[in-house]
Amino acid sequence: MSYDPNNIFAKILKGEIPCQKIYQDEFALAFYDINPQAALHALVIPTGPYVSSDDFHEKASETELVGYYRALNNVIESLGLKGNDGYRLLSNSGKNAHQEVPHFHTHIFGNQALGPMLSVSNK
Ligand code: AMP
Repeated sequence: MSYDPNNIFAKILKGEIPCQKIYQDEFALAFYDINPQAALHALVIPTGPYVSSDDFHEKASETELVGYYRALNNVIESLGLKGNDGYRLLSNSGKNAHQEVPHFHTHIFGNQALGPMLSVSNK
């Protein structure tokens, strides 16, 4: 799947549509999810054009990879999530995971008990 430069997160990166920004550096932008699924629901996206987790990990440079994960960690810290009751990171990739926006992103959920890991189970 090729990158769609008009996806909603690309438009946020270009400043064409607003977001509730939490953090920004050279490698990542973090903002609150428009339709929160938990008391705290943030998104962290790389500034580069990567469709999915696979695409990001295959094509991004070492510098971008490290920069992204450092930024993710900075966001977790700045949201006050470290060392207390915990939080959840989630990244949907492709059809089975219901990825809606084709720009790689990590969800951060926190500030409440988050329940079971999945709404479906093979158990
Ligand atoms: P995913 O299903 O993993 O692709 O999740 C995409 C997420 O992006 C969903 O949780 C949406 O609520 C969120 N989202 C979509 N548009 C916006 C927007 N303009 N600002 C903030 N979050 C958004």
